Amino acid sequence: MVVEITTTSEEIKRVLDGINLQPPAESEFMGGDFIRSETLERLARVLVERHAELGFIDEHGFTFQVLWKRRGGTKGGRQTLGKCLLQTGLTKFYSGQDWVIWLAADHVRLMGLNAHGMEALVFHELKHCAMNEDPESEEPPTPATIGHDVEMFLSEVENYGIWASDIARAAEVFGKQLGLFGGEAKQQEGPAGQDAPMEDDNDATT
Ligand SMILES: [Zn+2]
Repeated sequence: MVVEITTTSEEIKRVLDGINLQPPAESEFMGGDFIRSETLERLARVLVERHAELGFIDEHGFTFQVLWKRRGGTKGGRQTLGKCLLQTGLTKFYSGQDWVIWLAADHVRLMGLNAHGMEALVFHELKHCAMNEDPESEEPPTPATIGHDVEMFLSEVENYGIWASDIARAAEVFGKQLGLFGGEAKQQEGPAGQDAPMEDDNDATT
């Protein structure tokens, strides 16, 4: 099966039309930790409209905001590039949102992400948005967050191969990206921060 892989970066560029996607400078935070970014939210809105798998967000009237965070910090020895936080209780009361996404200004600045990389990062965080739905119930679905499709150490694959179904699925996707297995390689626009892992967290799961 060949999955068609498309990039929306050109579309994003047209929509944002010269608007600066670059993270704010440290001084622009004025000593605070967060800056709301209309630009990032516009980018996220385009992605929600563009990708059917994110369509449930608009379909059910769920809401989110996207912020720059001054410093992303590290977890488990790796830089945290962003987070998607489900809003509950007091945080929901004060934010008025179902999710708040933040991107780490310091890490993104150092990585020098281009438009393609920024789009990928925002898409990644949006993919943590999910919903809980009980088909037996007439109650409307509720917003939730989900974890990554695959969690692994590279050395486990080096030592034990493709031993689990999620790793097999990852291998399939990588194979298509690399033009293996009869798929077509995706044309990248340029470096999109390959050196840094896109490690983040989804806070609603512990
Ligand atoms: Zn993530």
